[in-house]
Amino acid sequence: MIDLIRVPDPTCIDDLLDEPLGLLYLGASLDERGHDVRITNLAGHDVDSWKPEIKEADLYGIQLYTPTAHIGIDIAKFIKEKFDKPVICGGAHPTALPELEDLSVFDKVVLSEGERSIVGIAEAHKKGRNLPRVVKSEFIEDLDSVPFPARGMVDMMSFHRKLEGERSFGIIGSRGCNYKCAFCDRSLFGSRARFRSIGNIVDEIKEVVSEYDVRNFEFFDDMFGATKKRIREFAEKTRGLNIKYRCNGRSDVLDKEVYESLHDSGCRMICFGIDSGSQRILDLMKKGTRVEQNFEAIKTAQSSGLNVMGYFIAGFPGETRETIRQSIDFIEKSNIDQAQFYTFIPLPGNEVYKNPEKFGVTKMSKDYKDYFHVTGKDGRGGRVIETKHLTSDELHGEVVEIRKFLKSHTWRGDVQDYYKKDLGYNVE
Ligand code: SF4
Repeated sequence: MIDLIRVPDPTCIDDLLDEPLGLLYLGASLDERGHDVRITNLAGHDVDSWKPEIKEADLYGIQLYTPTAHIGIDIAKFIKEKFDKPVICGGAHPTALPELEDLSVFDKVVLSEGERSIVGIAEAHKKGRNLPRVVKSEFIEDLDSVPFPARGMVDMMSFHRKLEGERSFGIIGSRGCNYKCAFCDRSLFGSRARFRSIGNIVDEIKEVVSEYDVRNFEFFDDMFGATKKRIREFAEKTRGLNIKYRCNGRSDVLDKEVYESLHDSGCRMICFGIDSGSQRILDLMKKGTRVEQNFEAIKTAQSSGLNVMGYFIAGFPGETRETIRQSIDFIEKSNIDQAQFYTFIPLPGNEVYKNPEKFGVTKMSKDYKDYFHVTGKDGRGGRVIETKHLTSDELHGEVVEIRKFLKSHTWRGDVQDYYKKDLGYNVE
């Protein structure tokens, strides 16, 4: 039996919001090759309550993200002590920092995309063959050859994401990204976008509809709205399926015709990485977009019937109190329906982490427990870096002010339950 473990995230407001799609993909690939697999979903647990959930298996796999990697490492130590079985880690954190001393508890470290590597490790384990400790496979070019996520391995009804009040499942239409934003780490899926065919995505949607009677989807990939051609084809092939979905889009590549196609095919909300209301900060981020373009895209998408969500980052090196005000002004003037702010984190693997001096970072913590984007349940976020413009305390103070603004503003459209319940947002 192979046990794939999802690490809990106690800093997150709702870590049961979404299913662990990455593990469901790994589970499907292992299952396809005849391995017995289960997924132990520890989301929702706090620091100690996960221990009784870990049962004996022959081989364990743990997915590590930077802010919760320390919990994954504790889980691996617990498994070693209790069952003395091999434990593999994979995910963004080990991909960026494979040599990290803390990872020495793991028998194997999988870098980048995990399907091929974990199948290789499982087969070697079964046959008693040895493999190098660090395993990396080529990226999968034909994404249509990857089996659909094994949703049957978890209780899909235990996750909280909704769209217009009804259950919504995650889906991924592409991997990797062609852009080069300096705050983003693309090492997990690569810096070149690879796409599933629209037909393959539609087949997965049909499978979900028939097995779960769920017709709402959250497209997690950054490149869903990358080309007009794909969106037109998606709109054509999903006509009649009566689905609703949210997706990401780039403000600089879409136009009115495409927003209308999105709306006709069931898109209810498009999410743009607006990131900043300051052109100077957008340029430092190497975002490749312009403030005016962002204003225009919001207006055009809204006039096509879509709600628009904007993601913003506070504290990218070079940020000042003034540029944070510009982001807040942008939200007010653009009349965007919803906005989320993330505190900038020099995630291992992104350009700032690799070259902090080049970006004017004067101090950078390597305590990865503090590397979370949101302010967290205890309000701690935003204390990882300092620049000559903002100390970490000053940035944290700004984040507190941003939170006050987000609470006092009135938002529109469909929101997840925790917005109103836990964050106290006003929603029209
Ligand atoms: S932030 Fe989005 S668009 Fe920018 S590099 Fe990362 S994945 Fe690509």
